[in-house]
Amino acid sequence: MATTDAVISRTETLNKYLKLDQRGSIIAEYVWIDSEGGTRAKARTLKDKGTEKYEVSELPTWNFDGSSTGQAPGENSDVYLKPVAIFDDPFRGSPNILVLAECINSDGTPNKFNYRHECAKLMEAHAEHEPWFGLEQEYTLLDLNDRPYGWPINGFPAPQGPYYCGVGAGKVVQRDIVDSHYKACLYAGIKIAGTNAEVMPAQWEFQVGPCLGIEMGDHLWMARYLLSRIAEDFGAKISVHPKPIPGDWNGAGLHSNFSTKEMRVEGGMAHIEAAIKKLEGRHKEHIAVYGEDNEKRLTGRHETGAIDQFTWGVANRGASIRIPREVGAKGYGYFEDRRPASNADPYRITGIIVETCFGAV
Ligand code: ADP
Ligand code: MN
Ligand code: MN
Ligand code: MN
Ligand code: MN
Repeated sequence: MATTDAVISRTETLNKYLKLDQRGSIIAEYVWIDSEGGTRAKARTLKDKGTEKYEVSELPTWNFDGSSTGQAPGENSDVYLKPVAIFDDPFRGSPNILVLAECINSDGTPNKFNYRHECAKLMEAHAEHEPWFGLEQEYTLLDLNDRPYGWPINGFPAPQGPYYCGVGAGKVVQRDIVDSHYKACLYAGIKIAGTNAEVMPAQWEFQVGPCLGIEMGDHLWMARYLLSRIAEDFGAKISVHPKPIPGDWNGAGLHSNFSTKEMRVEGGMAHIEAAIKKLEGRHKEHIAVYGEDNEKRLTGRHETGAIDQFTWGVANRGASIRIPREVGAKGYGYFEDRRPASNADPYRITGIIVETCFGAV
């Protein structure tokens, strides 16, 4: 009883403060990508501009202690935070904002873990092709002991089958987190496309896209931040490990759907096939940037292609590249690169796809 009362009163107390007038100020939460493939964030006060919204160029560059995040040495620890995208803040509510920031070293060069810088150059150089991406982020919900939710303490759940797009107790868990995340993404202005329960119990997916060029990485990273932040509210952990449970359990990927202006119109299939040919020639280079531990996932089983082989086909979920059935029938549209792991950096994926199709910068 005492515990329940405490939880209720905390929520109400928080809401009381969240409603307070901010007296002409807004809170900007600066979000950046750390050295471990996660996000970090810290907040600062800015002047409220009323009905006028902040532009990225008006936001101050900030900094953080890179020696505390593995992003800089102790003797030269300041890393700059350069704002690159703004979203509405679903936690504190409008007019407060979330600011995605790139990490820049003190000498002006991009930080080691800043893959956005190179990606943005590629996207700009090949903007005429209007590259669209849609990424499918799979993840696993863990309790604070790193156990997938709903899994028995000793042993395993019943084999895979009932869980994918499952409905009902015993089939899915933690739908409240998934729905909170969906709504928060829409509020923030993230181009979230949908969500579904995955094949392995406690595994879920959300999709972001179609996004144009650099926007793909920006929106996916902010969606990842929101997911971690919301899971924090619920006392859950997010795992983006590509094979969280060894054995006969599906891994987690970041399927990357891609199209260009030329692929999206009649006659597009010739452009799709030409792109796939180019991807085939650089399979190893792609795998190198498609996430850590991906060899544990790309086994040729559990709806994957083998890591050392490049294959493609219409409606083939065991291939590296799948052309959706509908695209095959129409003769134009997009294709899906199924190789990226759930822990890959979207800037690296989208960057190398564009580089392979249209050339380096
Ligand atoms: P799957 O059938 O592989 O599970 P999903 O429905 O989960 O596919 O995800 C498909 C993704 O492809 C979505 O993010 C969607 O926005 C994206 N998408 C749709 N059309 C295009 C396109 N023309 N170019 C790039 N991405 C696209
Ligand atoms: Mn301090
Ligand atoms: Mn999907
Ligand atoms: Mn999936
Ligand atoms: Mn897919």
